[in-house]
Amino acid sequence: MSHGTAAPATGRAAGKGLPVPHGVPADGDHPGSAPPAVRVRGVRRSFEADIAPVRALRGLDFDVAAGEFVALMGPSGCGKSTLLNVIAGLDRPDEGSVEVAGERIDGVSVLDNLMLPGILGGLRRRAATSRARDLLGLLGIGEHGSRPPSALSGGQRQRLAIARALVNYPDLLLADEPTGALDSEGAQEVLALLRQLHAGGQTIVMVTHAPEVAAAAGRIVRMRDGRAEGRP
Ligand code: ADP
Ligand code: MG
Repeated sequence: MSHGTAAPATGRAAGKGLPVPHGVPADGDHPGSAPPAVRVRGVRRSFEADIAPVRALRGLDFDVAAGEFVALMGPSGCGKSTLLNVIAGLDRPDEGSVEVAGERIDGVSVLDNLMLPGILGGLRRRAATSRARDLLGLLGIGEHGSRPPSALSGGQRQRLAIARALVNYPDLLLADEPTGALDSEGAQEVLALLRQLHAGGQTIVMVTHAPEVAAAAGRIVRMRDGRAEGRP
């Protein structure tokens, strides 16, 4: 899904009370004791195309240690967004394995997918389950909790990506072209969710090219030549 959309929605906790990620060794702990945050082995993912399939990931290995800050770089089309979607469990590899915090995540259900950021954020399994169920209800896809994310429509998957960013109650939701890869129906679903979150008090900053998408926001700020126009 979300072809061309790297990290469509990012939750960020600001100020005090930053969640300490589970698995980050505290001072004096043995760094080797936590499982790696991410372990990707031999992942292949192809997409159907007119002439020949596009081989987006061709046997990729990738590790991230707990607490690391990794920048993924590479030319457009080299597979960065596909890799992020696979690590988020929003897209399934054709081959290979993906582990997050020591657990296989390829093939997990929508509900498990939504529990994962909670568990990574330090919630206990029971709390993470109830938070995930609440968010599924908010998305209006409570009945799809046991299905794989790949069974969802593009708009539903994008809303799942946004819900993942919301699990740990971020003060700020950052959405980078959340409707960029969607048809107009999918885009409407995502906008409805963002409006609903805003109505519930969620602070949101969204990047978009589309005026009809921007119209859903309370304020439009235009950027030009590296500056924001109008009042700050
Ligand atoms: P990057 O993020 O590095 O620019 P992507 O992961 O978005 O690259 O894309 C890698 C390749 O896979 C590109 O050729 C892209 O066109 C193709 N691709 C990605 N997602 C899809 C999709 N859902 N359907 C068809 N092709 C896709
Ligand atoms: Mg990309």
